[in-house]
Amino acid sequence: MKFICIGRNYTEHAKELNNAVPTEPVIFFKPETALLIGRQPFFYPEFSKDIHYECEIVVRINRLGKNIQKKFAPRYYEEIGLGIDFTARDLQNDLKSKGLPWEKAKGFDGSAVVGNFISLNSLKNKDNIEFQLLKNGKVVQQGYSKDMIFNIDAIIEYVSMFVTLKIGDIIFTGTPAGVGPVAIGDQLEGLLEGTSNFTLHIR
Ligand code: ZN
Repeated sequence: MKFICIGRNYTEHAKELNNAVPTEPVIFFKPETALLIGRQPFFYPEFSKDIHYECEIVVRINRLGKNIQKKFAPRYYEEIGLGIDFTARDLQNDLKSKGLPWEKAKGFDGSAVVGNFISLNSLKNKDNIEFQLLKNGKVVQQGYSKDMIFNIDAIIEYVSMFVTLKIGDIIFTGTPAGVGPVAIGDQLEGLLEGTSNFTLHIR
């Protein structure tokens, strides 16, 4: 499996990092070894001094597909969850300033936290999914899926022009504003429509 990640998919987040609002999706990948199942601890890596959380809606692909039209995209997923796209912001800023790829800052072990997947049909409002990230019990990110610049179906259409989507692939759909650093000892909890979806400790 692979992780397909969308960058700058919420206007307010693009602005907070001084990035332009994109006219087409920004995509990058994480390897399978980045997976961290919610409830396992995240071990702060030695190569960074500025690890940031980015809480995002994650989508699991349940059907093989390529060149998927937007109108058919809903056939390719039926479950979503929450995740964290951990980012070594210091490394990323250095890579960005040199025009280099982000993988080192985005694809390291444990950088793709994935919580529980739940059926879209069980959501109260699947057209505007509400989610929050709590750091040590305080809300630090609040997101609504309708604020995405490119929605899930548009992402599937765009990404599948370039890469085949396989069963089990996971899409990170971008983070709303409010990203920030974590420190050893912090606890993060993601809430999907008010229900706990993952918790993890920074060690
Ligand atoms: Zn992200």
